[in-house]
Amino acid sequence: MSYDQNTFANLISHAKEYGYIFQSSEIYDGLSAVYDYGQNGAQLKKNIRDAWWKSMTQLNENIVGIDAAIFMHPTTWKASGHVDSFSDPMIDNKDSNKRYRVDHLIEAFADELKTKGSADKAQALLDAMDALLAADDLAGIKKLIEDNNIKCSISGTCNWTDVRQFNLMFSTELGSVSEEASTIYLRPETAQGIFVNFLNVQKTGRMKIPFGIAQTGKAFRNEIVARQFIFRMREFEQMEMQFFIRPGSQKEWYEHWKAERLKWHKEVMGTPSERLRYHDHVKLAHYADAAVDIEFEFPFGFKELEGIHSRTDYDLGRHQEFSKKKLQYFDNELNQNYVPYVIETSVGLDRLVLTVLSNAYAEEKWAKEDGSEDSRVVLRIPPSLAPNKLAVLPLTKKDGLPEIARDIIAGCKGFFHCFYEEKDSIGKRYRRMDAIGTPYCVTVDHQTKEDQTVTIRYRDTMTQERIHMNEVAAKVLAGLAL
Ligand code: ATP
Repeated sequence: MSYDQNTFANLISHAKEYGYIFQSSEIYDGLSAVYDYGQNGAQLKKNIRDAWWKSMTQLNENIVGIDAAIFMHPTTWKASGHVDSFSDPMIDNKDSNKRYRVDHLIEAFADELKTKGSADKAQALLDAMDALLAADDLAGIKKLIEDNNIKCSISGTCNWTDVRQFNLMFSTELGSVSEEASTIYLRPETAQGIFVNFLNVQKTGRMKIPFGIAQTGKAFRNEIVARQFIFRMREFEQMEMQFFIRPGSQKEWYEHWKAERLKWHKEVMGTPSERLRYHDHVKLAHYADAAVDIEFEFPFGFKELEGIHSRTDYDLGRHQEFSKKKLQYFDNELNQNYVPYVIETSVGLDRLVLTVLSNAYAEEKWAKEDGSEDSRVVLRIPPSLAPNKLAVLPLTKKDGLPEIARDIIAGCKGFFHCFYEEKDSIGKRYRRMDAIGTPYCVTVDHQTKEDQTVTIRYRDTMTQERIHMNEVAAKVLAGLAL
């Protein structure tokens, strides 16, 4: 399922024009890689978050949710390894002063090779890069860049600095400067809030292994190469679940969550199978004994959407070591104490918003009965995720039609989000609702006054039918359950 060449650029401007996503602080020329969600984007994001939360905490009786603070004790990040090794290898071009993440620089060059028909050469280059990154061979990476004559896109030169590691955490001071200030970090992932609360939740919830703790919330990373819209942001939202298990059972649970999560993307987010794939990690993070990405085919290619990691007892073990507090579980069945192993599922909420919008965005053209061409831009968002479920549109602003429309909304708004609009022709209003992704429109006309029927119009097929106004809520609710 390939995209049209301009889809991504058109999608970005569409998201702005229809109240989904704005550049942060736009009136001050924006802040790079930081975005705000508008009235429709915030609701879409919330619907996706709610769907994830439900699938984790409501549909699994052994998974509970928490909401930990963004600020954490600074030792957390020493224990987790982030202070020492949460960094990306970067290289600067000495002529343009532009900084690149080396893997991005090399991957972009490999893409160029592929478009020029040298797919084998591109693959060999990527394999060489993976091997060097896995060995932490920074000098080797620089040599690879030079040997392939990879140039800076701005200066066009190959005049590179050495490759260096840059830490991605934002730091700030806790307390006023005059007091004894201490450096703390904006969390770069939500997972650690779960680990440090492992025993609190296990004890107060009387949880028995295997069990999971889920959390959604903001995370912050000082991404050096921040581009591709909301794909890579400096402030973003994660939805993570840590599943605590018996040591030795990690293979089985890793396979379980790997399959479950892929299924969720297909069934709940409505993502077509051909736009999803697994990508096994070659270079494992310092905490993992197995890791896979679920990749989605974004308009700019297949990229990571979610990570599933088998984290062993690394995190709990390290927090135990640094805090000097036991983080163990007594397993009644085994009559034994142990530090549980963990399988983590970690998905970016903003990347999911982009996934849903990428799947939904369509520019459609067709011939009308008189032979002329008609067109529309439609967001085919799954009805359960769409920001507004129903638009109620009185044909005219008079003759009591707005009052009937308001009555219909009054009967529906307790169940789902409704939208009222009376300006412009019905055709224009339908187009606007298509562009926002509203799955159902109901038009109130003069016949409604006679027989209480309305026209319901379906976004995806553009077909219309006449139903009794009392049936509207049930009809929409039935559609949301699909
Ligand atoms: P990448 O390789 O793309 O930088 P990552 O491997 O560092 O991602 P994880 O640390 O595994 O990502 O984070 C889990 C999830 O959080 C990712 O799969 C992604 O969906 C999301 N995520 C990570 N960094 C960002 C970011 N800068 N902006 C938006 N989402 C992000």
